[in-house]
Amino acid sequence: MRERLAAIPGIEIVPGDWGTGIVARLAGGRPGPTVAYRSDMDALPIREETGLPFACVRTDTLDGRAVGVMHACGHDFHMAILLGVAAVLSEVRERLPGSVLFLLEPAEEIGAGARMLLEAGVFEEGREPAAIFATHVHPSLPVGRIGYCPGYATGNVDTFRLRIAGVGGHGAYPHETVDPVVLAARTVLALQTLVSREIDTAKQAVVSVGSIHGGTKSNVIPDEVVLTGTIRTLDPAVRDQIHGAIPRLVTGIAASAGAPEPETRTSYGTPSLYNDPEVVTRSLPVLRRVLGEENVVAYDPAMGGEDFARFATVVPGFLFRLGVGRPDREMALHRASFDPDERAIPLGMRVVAELLWEHLAGPDTAE
Ligand SMILES: [Zn+2]
Ligand SMILES: [Zn+2]
Repeated sequence: MRERLAAIPGIEIVPGDWGTGIVARLAGGRPGPTVAYRSDMDALPIREETGLPFACVRTDTLDGRAVGVMHACGHDFHMAILLGVAAVLSEVRERLPGSVLFLLEPAEEIGAGARMLLEAGVFEEGREPAAIFATHVHPSLPVGRIGYCPGYATGNVDTFRLRIAGVGGHGAYPHETVDPVVLAARTVLALQTLVSREIDTAKQAVVSVGSIHGGTKSNVIPDEVVLTGTIRTLDPAVRDQIHGAIPRLVTGIAASAGAPEPETRTSYGTPSLYNDPEVVTRSLPVLRRVLGEENVVAYDPAMGGEDFARFATVVPGFLFRLGVGRPDREMALHRASFDPDERAIPLGMRVVAELLWEHLAGPDTAE
């Protein structure tokens, strides 16, 4: 990517501590603001089963296991689109009013890349953009369509870990123990009342316990049970509310049974993606002009995560979904058979190039 970008006339690679990421800039021949465009770059530890002649056959190791390497989330599409946009805008750079900052973000899938680039100062030294854009391929939309969602569009992706302590003993004499298995069972059910009984019914939230571990033998009451889970919310206030409620509830349940104090840890992960409504409003006419009115469709927020959200918390941002679905085939992201429709690549390039131009030049100078 670095070589391909550096070969495009007018593109300057911005030096910095970007890890395996790349930052590049295209300065236009006319004065104006900076707008940014992000593509993620990372693949997934999945053995590709598309049967395509160019399927990735590389293997790698993850936690000591041999794994495949596959662009099962379409980040290869995103990179191809970024390169195309850079090439197109390079051709008209003399007339370009302002600069475009291109971000190639590593480690999106583990929610680490955006923070790394921000901490390394990607928006410092005169590079602060007026707006930032990104797209993500989406198999539920047919090729030729684009999806948008103003406001909060993805979930705050947070986790919790609860170590529920008890006093172990013989399963035949529970009165001589404090049984953490029973406490864990109560806790799992009680966690479900957080959303149903404490959160504003007009807001969305999910609390899911994903793992529960304790005990070794049928007739031994263990000393502890460990639960882990995920918390998904859209609104920041609801997010804080649940983070505060989990320790209160778990500690209360333990106290009611006379158990030792449990260890409750909740952590904040990738924030919810906020698509700036003003940026979205300004972008919609461009999307409709390029793809046709009927091909630009609104979608509802969903609780998945997207690391682009971190950029969009410091700069007004907009990530739209790019249709890559094929009517004859079922497809899902992160699946070994994921084979998106490549006709989406030139469409994505056109849309992004026009969006960036629009946000640099304003509606009257669209070309
Ligand atoms: Zn992914
Ligand atoms: Zn992805």
